[in-house]
Amino acid sequence: MPVSQFPRVSLAQVPTPLEDMANLTRDLGGPRLMVKRDDCTGFAMGGNKVRQAEFYVGDALDKGADTLITSGAVQSNHARVTAAAAARFGLACELQVENLAHGRDPEYMTSGNALLQRLFGARLHPYTEGGSEEGADDNLERMADDVRTRGGRPYVIHLGPDHPPLGALGYVDAAGELLGQAAEQGVTIDAVVLPSGSAGTHAGMLAGLRAAGSPVRVMGICIRRDAASQAERVLKRARMTAELIGQPDVIDADDVWVTDDYFGPGYGQPTPGMMEAVTMTAGREGLLLDPVYTGKAMAGLIGLVRTCEFDADATVVFLHTGGTPALFAYRSLFAPDEA
Ligand SMILES: *Cc1c(COP(=O)(O)O)cnc(C)c1O
Repeated sequence: MPVSQFPRVSLAQVPTPLEDMANLTRDLGGPRLMVKRDDCTGFAMGGNKVRQAEFYVGDALDKGADTLITSGAVQSNHARVTAAAAARFGLACELQVENLAHGRDPEYMTSGNALLQRLFGARLHPYTEGGSEEGADDNLERMADDVRTRGGRPYVIHLGPDHPPLGALGYVDAAGELLGQAAEQGVTIDAVVLPSGSAGTHAGMLAGLRAAGSPVRVMGICIRRDAASQAERVLKRARMTAELIGQPDVIDADDVWVTDDYFGPGYGQPTPGMMEAVTMTAGREGLLLDPVYTGKAMAGLIGLVRTCEFDADATVVFLHTGGTPALFAYRSLFAPDEA
C-alpha cells in the first residue's frame, strides 16, 4: 500500500534543504557535491531518526501502546528521538543501552545523546551481555514482558532485519522529496552517498528511488558491520520496504552498493578519515557532522572523489543524517588539550 496509508504521526520539518557544498566541491576538484540536510528535520535536534520515528510511533499509537521500547548504543540518536517522541505523545519509554564503544571520554557516557535521553524522561537499562545483535534483540522482548507484568502496553521498535522496516517508509518519502527538489533546481543527481547502519535509511532511499523509476545510485558507507553482511542486510530490508509499498519487484541485487573501507576498527571507533572529514566540513562549509555516522560517511565521499569514482561533471548528494549531539561525546578527540 502507498506510504500515505500507513499510520503515522507528524514530527519532521520537511522538506529539508538540498544545498550545494561549493567549497568542498572546489577543494576536492571533483564532481558537484550537494548535501540533503536531514540534520535539519528539527524535532529533538533532528536527524534521520525523526523521519523513521513518525511511522513507528504512528503504529504504536494505532495499536494502543502506552510504552515505547527500543535499543541503541550509549550515544544512539535513535534512542534520543524515540525518547523525545514518547515524551511528545505521552508514552513511557524504556531504552536498552549497549556500550559498543568502550574506553572513550567521560563525556561519552554522560553528554550528547546520553544526556538528552535522560532529559526526555526515558528509563535506561544497560545491556552488557556481549555484543550479539540477536541477544540484544531477544532481550527487548523480555523488557516488553516486564512492562506487561506491570500492566502496561509495550510497543517494541526493532531495527533488526527480521522485522518490518516501518521506519524505512520515512526514506521512501524522502526519496520522492529529493527527486522533486532536484527537478525544481534543474539538477540531475547521479549518486546519493549515505551512512548505512541498521539500513533503514539506505533501504528506504533505494526502494523509494526505484519505486519512482529513478536509477540514481545509492552508495552506502558501512558504519556498523562489514560490507558482505551489510549488503545482505540492505538487500533484505530494501525488498521488505518495496513489499510494504506494494512494489515487490523494484529492487535488484546489484542495486545494493556498500563499502566498508571507511569503517575502521568498529562501530563508534574513530578513524583518521572521520577526523579529517569532520574537521574539513566544519572548517570549509560551516557544517557539523558527527563522529559515528556522518563523519565516516563523509570520509567515504571524500575518498570516492579522490579515487575518481565519479565523473567530473557528475552531481553527488551527501545525505546528512544528523547525529550532531554525539560530537559533544567525543570532545577530547577534537579538543585534546582542554582540561
Ligand atoms: C542511525 C543513524 C544512521 C544510520 O541509519 P540507519 O537507518 O540505521 O542505517 C546514520 N546517521 C545517523 C546520524 C544516525 O543516527
